[in-house]
Formats: sequence, structure tokens, C-alpha cells
Amino acid sequence: AVAAPAPVAAAAAAAPVITGTLVKVNVSLPEAAQRAAATGADGVGLLRIEHLILGLGKTPGWYIAHGKEEEFIAELYRGIKIVLDAFPGKPVWVRTLDAPTDEFRNMEGGESEPIEHNPMLGWRGIRRDLKSPDQFRMQVEAFRRLWAAGYSNLGVMFPLVNHPKEFIQARAMMEEWGVDVEKVTLGVMVEIPSSAILIDDFIKAGIRFASFGTNDLVQYTLAIDRNNENVANMYEPEHPAVLKLIDYAIKACRANGVECSICGQAGSDPKMVAWLVEHGITSVSANIDAVPRIREAVARKERQILLDAARRNA
Ligand code: PEP
Ligand code: MG
Repeated sequence: AVAAPAPVAAAAAAAPVITGTLVKVNVSLPEAAQRAAATGADGVGLLRIEHLILGLGKTPGWYIAHGKEEEFIAELYRGIKIVLDAFPGKPVWVRTLDAPTDEFRNMEGGESEPIEHNPMLGWRGIRRDLKSPDQFRMQVEAFRRLWAAGYSNLGVMFPLVNHPKEFIQARAMMEEWGVDVEKVTLGVMVEIPSSAILIDDFIKAGIRFASFGTNDLVQYTLAIDRNNENVANMYEPEHPAVLKLIDYAIKACRANGVECSICGQAGSDPKMVAWLVEHGITSVSANIDAVPRIREAVARKERQILLDAARRNA
């Protein structure tokens, strides 16, 4: 009989199992792909496509309104392919569009963006794609063509999910649009406390990976606007509440064989990364310039854990 997965509580009590933490890199623009690959990183833990799209000067809505979806899909395909080509055989997790409405406003087509008092809590991330299937469909079509072209190292990550039903719905839409969802790698960002709290349900829903978006996780856990200088001194990635959420989610992922990673700025901080390795994270994704020091922090912490274990068993 197949053993049932260890319950989360039991896993939490277990010592971390070190299997070699992968060190990946964050990429925001295809132009940076070669520099990112030159770090020797084990893959791309976050490719933000909004910079590529903002660089087009026109909103996705503009392309739809002008019947130019093909043009948008081709631009997205081209940009992502550059990054995939720079990382042959290594995972590249592309995040679906996650630009707040105010960032679209200055672009052509931006006049139809809703005016929101609080764009960071508003119509962005997966919630926008689920309500705007036309926008989502263009992205999915670019991914589908890349998978069809043989880029099996492409993984897709949904931002700002707060309930497993969003993941389930997004995957169902992709399936409807011709993606073999059983074959491809789909995961979520854990960047709202609700998604950390519900991590077991996300795992049951079939995520293949979870990645901590600590930039947002910190702001939503602590109610500290990440862009507000008045409260910047209270913006604390190492706040015990944030760490507790992360620890909880890591344990659940590890107990179920789901890769867990980090792609927020805290993944470029050696002290935070040492803590994450100690708590069992399976990969970290850092800014290009931070990759060497993060590699070193990971190696140092793994060595320490192994030496401690050896001494205990001596
Ligand atoms: C995050 O929230 O940590 C993240 C990586 O996403 P962004 O900074 O793009 O919101
Ligand atoms: Mg975020």
C-alpha cells in the first residue's frame, strides 16, 4: 500500500531534509536574460512579463479593442522565448500579468483602465485575468505555442491568488483553450496571507509549486503599504507573523513533495535565505546581482546543517 503523506503537523516537527537548495534568478526584461544566465543560476524563479508589456506602450486592452491580439501574442512569445533560450533544460517560471491599473494608465489604451483608490488591493493579478478572459487568453496562447514548440521547461505562475478556486478556474480556462494541463507545470505565488493559510487546499487542488512573493506578503500581513515612506520603517520581512506563515507553508509543501520557493526581494537577502534554508525551502530566486552572495549563503547554511547533524549522530 502507498503510505499516506505525512500530516502537516508531524512534518513541522521533523528536522529539515537537505536535498540541495536550488538558487534561481529573477528576470524582468528579456534583455537581461543573458546576464541572468551567466550567473549560473538553476533556472528563473520569476519572469515578470509586465515590464515587457509596459514596454510595448499599449495596454492589453488596446490590442483587444483594435483586433490586434495576434500582435500581442507574438510580442509575448518572442520575449519569453528569449529567456527560455537562455536557460535550456532549466525551469523558467513565467508569471501571468500582474500590473496594477495605475501602471497601465499612462499607456495607449490606459484611459479605459478603472480609477482605483487602492490599486494594490484592486484589479490586478489573477483576479483580473479571471474576469478578463480575453486578456488571459492572449497570454495562455503565447504559453501554449511555446509548449507546443517544445519548451517543456516553461512553468506558469499565477500571482495574487487568495483562494484555491482561482487556481482551479485558471487551470480550467487553460485547458479549455487547448493546454494539456496535466503535462505542464502550473503553480502559484503565495503573497497574500490567505494563500499561505490555505496552502494545503492549494496542494490538494494540484499546484506543482508555490513561490513566496514576500514583497506583497509583508505588506498584506502587516498592513504596511510597500510604497509608503511614512511606514517604511515598519516594513519588516522578518516579522514573526510573516515568518510563521512562510514556515507553515514550507512544511505543507515539503510534506507533499511540492516545490516551494521565494521570488520576493527577501530572497536576495542572505540572512533571510539562511533562515529559509534552515526551514526547508526547496529553492530561492534572487536578483541577478545577488545570485553569488545567495549561493554562498545557501552553501554555508547547508554545510552548517549537515555538520550539526553529523555531530549529533557522532
Ligand atoms: C512579490 O510580491 O514579492 C513579488 C515578487 O511580486 P511583485 O514585487 O512584482 O509584486
Ligand atoms: Mg507581488
